[in-house]
Amino acid sequence: MSATSESPAGAASRPPSVDTLARSLAGSGLPHPILVDIAREAIADGDHQRAAERAEAFRRTLLTPVVNATGVLLHTNLGRAPVAHSQPARPQTVEFDLATGERGSRQRAVGQLFARLCGAEAAIIVNNNAAAVLLVVAALAEGRQVAVSRGESVEIGGAFRVPEVMEQSGARLVDVGTTNRTRLADYERAMVRPGNDVALVMKIHPSNYRVAGFVEDTPVRELATLDVPVVADIGSGLLDATVPWLHGPPPAWLHDEPAAVQAISDGADLVTFSADKLLGGPQAGVIAGRRDLVERCASHQLARALRCGGLTLAALQQVALSYLRRTVTDDIAFWRMVDQPLDALRRRAERIIGEAGVGAAVETEALPGAGSAPGISMPSVGVAVAGDQLARLRAHDPPVIGRTRDDMTVLDVRSVDPDDDHVLIAALAALAA
Ligand SMILES: *Cc1c(COP(=O)(O)O)cnc(C)c1O
Repeated sequence: MSATSESPAGAASRPPSVDTLARSLAGSGLPHPILVDIAREAIADGDHQRAAERAEAFRRTLLTPVVNATGVLLHTNLGRAPVAHSQPARPQTVEFDLATGERGSRQRAVGQLFARLCGAEAAIIVNNNAAAVLLVVAALAEGRQVAVSRGESVEIGGAFRVPEVMEQSGARLVDVGTTNRTRLADYERAMVRPGNDVALVMKIHPSNYRVAGFVEDTPVRELATLDVPVVADIGSGLLDATVPWLHGPPPAWLHDEPAAVQAISDGADLVTFSADKLLGGPQAGVIAGRRDLVERCASHQLARALRCGGLTLAALQQVALSYLRRTVTDDIAFWRMVDQPLDALRRRAERIIGEAGVGAAVETEALPGAGSAPGISMPSVGVAVAGDQLARLRAHDPPVIGRTRDDMTVLDVRSVDPDDDHVLIAALAALAA
């Protein structure tokens, strides 16, 4: 029953007091109240000799910067798009109008920039794209129906399930067409079916999977001929299909990604998308389109609960300004990774191998990730070492996250910031040592 009865007998293993043990762990850098909890539990478990390991294990549960060498550029478990942002502890004009000195709109600063970027009349920012869809449906279709193709009634990212989002918004889903083929006539029939009260047609990009073969969907251009507003949930946040911010033509892997500018010019009344996927910004959701509809969303009760804080808005404003200034491949980490030429990746891999004294360069396929462009990859280069070294690499400080392939561990350099190459070198050298 007592802690000591489980540990080896003798004075050396008699547990210290909780306070003494907690103080002995101060080198972990954890705050004292946390160390007291860890010390108390270790003593209760008869495990006080491993208290330092317990403290280290706790430290590793805190948010920690890592090196993403998985080759998945927008890694969902690693916070999607990596974002650089810092700001001083100063008040900012989150809801203050400098012209009048009175209260202003939280949506104005960044909303106007996204309206400009999307070629839309207006835009607002909410917590994420799930919130954007929830708000649009609640504001425009509460108590009424939303028509969605059966081929687009999808689940994205584990928790975003279209039918459930509709239900939570207080709207009812009307299934249109079939899983593989939905034509304009199917929507037209659903709208006039007796008893139906369709307020909205929603086109949802099935971001994370593809149906191949005998497949047909109805493009926004055709949906725009219907009598109700058309909302396009494009998901990934690609702003413009012509990617004018990249050097060279649009990459092949972007071929099937819907983009905001084109959806709006094709006649979508609203578009919604995530800010932390292909846009490359912080977690947020954008609603852009017709001013009257955007205003109905902004003034809905739910908007208050779904809004972003000043930190997010300030980071997103930087992202929007980078697109407008065409400095995307300098400023936005995701597009910087995409823009790396293959021979530059090869040179980096060779240098890492040379300095670490271990590993071999291998061809890899990097992925955009975050459910964007499923099944499509971009050529990349990795450093391969024998065996499964994933756990040892995660134990490195800072942790390195890789992946395994054919009995090898591969560290893809495309998803690694070149400033972190020295971390790969140190982690690989430590494996060899
Ligand atoms: C990712 C995605 C969502 C969910 O967006 P979050 O920003 O993760 O809330 C919704 N719809 C589509 C089409 C998506 O791709």
